[in-house]
Amino acid sequence: MNSYTRLNQEHIKILQQIFTQNRVLFGEAIAEEYGHDELSGMIAMPQAVVQPLSAAEVSQLLRFASEQQIAVTPRGQGTGLVGGCVPVCGGILLDMSKMNHILELDMDNLTLTVEPGDLLMDVAKFVEERQLFYPPDPGEKSASIGGNISTNAGGMRAVKYGVTRDYIRGLEVVLTNGTILNLSGKVAKNSSGYDLKDLIIGSEGTLAVVTKAILKLVPYPAETISLLIPFADLSAAISTVPLILQSRTNPVALEFFERETIMAAENFLGKRFPDHSAPAYLLVSFDGNSLAEIEHVYEAAAELCLKNGALDVLIADTTERKESIWSARSAFLEGIKAAAGEIDECDVVVPRKSVAEFMQFAHSLEAEYGVGMRGFGHAGDGNLHIYAMRENMQESDWQKGKKAVMEALYRRAEFYEGQVSGEHGIGWEKQDYLLERLGEAQISLMQAVKLVFDPSCILNPQKIFKMK
Ligand SMILES: Cc1cc2nc3c(=O)[nH]c(=O)nc-3n(C[C@H](O)[C@H](O)[C@H](O)COP(=O)(O)OP(=O)(O)OC[C@H]3O[C@@H](n4cnc5c(N)ncnc54)[C@H](O)[C@@H]3O)c2cc1C
Repeated sequence: MNSYTRLNQEHIKILQQIFTQNRVLFGEAIAEEYGHDELSGMIAMPQAVVQPLSAAEVSQLLRFASEQQIAVTPRGQGTGLVGGCVPVCGGILLDMSKMNHILELDMDNLTLTVEPGDLLMDVAKFVEERQLFYPPDPGEKSASIGGNISTNAGGMRAVKYGVTRDYIRGLEVVLTNGTILNLSGKVAKNSSGYDLKDLIIGSEGTLAVVTKAILKLVPYPAETISLLIPFADLSAAISTVPLILQSRTNPVALEFFERETIMAAENFLGKRFPDHSAPAYLLVSFDGNSLAEIEHVYEAAAELCLKNGALDVLIADTTERKESIWSARSAFLEGIKAAAGEIDECDVVVPRKSVAEFMQFAHSLEAEYGVGMRGFGHAGDGNLHIYAMRENMQESDWQKGKKAVMEALYRRAEFYEGQVSGEHGIGWEKQDYLLERLGEAQISLMQAVKLVFDPSCILNPQKIFKMK
């Protein structure tokens, strides 16, 4: 395991030369939020925070940190859930939030070039005002594009449109030796050697720092309609999913959730969900260029669901109704967190047909370990979000209980040939499960790749896997 140089006054002076205008924070000026992310239990403060404005500044910093063997941890907005942006080895936190400009809209190539600190919600608004669409839609809209790229964020629209990786045409990245590289570009396809761009996407800031991204856009779909479909139980709901996907209705999103999750979101938001009378629900949405185009599609899907055990089909075709459903869906995580006090999360992805069985298994752990379990997720792509809830448990029971249920969940995911993370990444929290799932041979390959990019292991050390 590597050891890192602690910053001294000389180091701080050099940082102040690189980052003028008070863009170096140290000591008491470092806000407490820089020591954690949105969910993981890991807390560690950096010795200094720097806020670059350009790739050139990132390059100078990384060269200096490599020479001095100082740990550097990139941070977007800190909305991650697995401790990816937490500076577990101290050193320098690289806060990318000031590199937040939209640089170029290229209508001929349908691309948008952005800096990594741009927020997902700002990018979405910018393009939608111009009748364009950037489809990746993770639940947390205040996340940065750099964070989305580094975790290969998924989200609700993955069923039809895919995930962040599918919408990154090109990247500018800075290596730890200071080299600034442009990977791929505005081209729509590329078969030119190893795809380094795709390797950087999802690498959680362990290989290089993203300083610019060229996003792929598509025309904005003029109309969307959502169906909220209650079922008598989760198995009935999930067994309808393959039928919808086979039916040529091409849904954008296909989510599942249970009544208790809706109630938690209602309490959190102080607003009523359109319905919470049934034990389980599917939420399906469709988009297209006109209402006429999607009408026959959603009618066919509704009919299919009613034939296969749906209790009802509620159509959300007004802005208010869509807003009330989707804002509650976006608040599920916070609702569960507020109800439970403390939570731990499992973000496994399993083959779609195993989702209902997996959720039944998760609920069976409640009786076995005395830990409350809640879940919801992306039924259309098999990505579940399952939460162990602390509620009134004593600290030692909670620690023991959450470890036991997480181990059981990840073992079960392996049984279904699933993967440890569908979209949130591995970060600090989920490394043991990754090693167990992938085995030494795959982890050794990843360690070797890490050493090629970052021979001194200064960039986001101790994330995804430990180095030998
Ligand atoms: C309520 C809620 C809902 C969520 N829903 C979803 C969801 O539906 N789908 C989903 O995928 N995620 C979801 N997330 C998780 C989180 O929002 C995403 O992981 C997001 O992509 C993180 O972005 P960020 O800017 O906050 O990154 P951070 O948390 O700051 O960092 C995440 C990782 O990216 C690295 N990083 C950040 N910027 C750079 C850069 N410029 N260069 C190199 N590395 C960098 C960091 O080192 C870290 O490893 C949710 C989170 C919350 C709180």
